[in-house]
Amino acid sequence: MSTLEIKDLHVSVTTEDGAKEILRGVTLTINSGETHAIMGPNGSGKSTLAYSIAGHPKYTITSGTVTLDGEDVLAMSVDERARAGIFLAMQYPVEVPGVSMSNFLRTAKTAVDGEAPKLRTWVKDMKQAMENLRMDPSFAERNVNEGFSGGEKKRHEILQMELLRPKFAVLDETDSGLDVDALRVVSEGVNRAKEATGSGVLLIT
Ligand code: ADP
Ligand code: MG
Repeated sequence: MSTLEIKDLHVSVTTEDGAKEILRGVTLTINSGETHAIMGPNGSGKSTLAYSIAGHPKYTITSGTVTLDGEDVLAMSVDERARAGIFLAMQYPVEVPGVSMSNFLRTAKTAVDGEAPKLRTWVKDMKQAMENLRMDPSFAERNVNEGFSGGEKKRHEILQMELLRPKFAVLDETDSGLDVDALRVVSEGVNRAKEATGSGVLLIT
């Protein structure tokens, strides 16, 4: 059992007019296997919370703590957070031309686990995960998110979650902009990943 604990978190972002305080004391505890949903109007700071947990450099934590099983998450670099088991599915996934999906996923898996996955099981796992998410196998050779539709980008975020098996997943509006079929595929994927790993989920919706 793991616990992600956010305590009295205050976060500012630097804008042209100086620092602007966005989060003013967020407190939330998430245990393994739990799902917590955050809803709120646009601009209320949901993505700010997600980015602050993941370690985006634009967001300055002015006070408060985030710990994972007692370890200070805010003292960790972004990659250390990922290795500690924190995963962020971004609201607007980034396109990475020149990097294939298969290369990206395998590199990420290797970095997170500290060792390369066995090639034979890895290829099988990746194929299965893509099939589960109704992604065409040809996506493996496409560049990361390049030219993907909104729904395809969201599926790719969940594909990462299924393969990386995080302890805690922050899903930033993974449901937004999806049609009914895609929504079902993506939510089944989240549930499957959660069941397989017992992850805690922070669902921004
Ligand atoms: P939500 O995800 O709930 O829609 P955000 O966390 O994206 O809200 O934004 C909260 C507020 O912070 C908004 O007023 C937004 O304009 C501002 N903000 C967020 N990120 C930045 C940034 N990188 N630069 C300037 N302002 C930002
Ligand atoms: Mg947002």
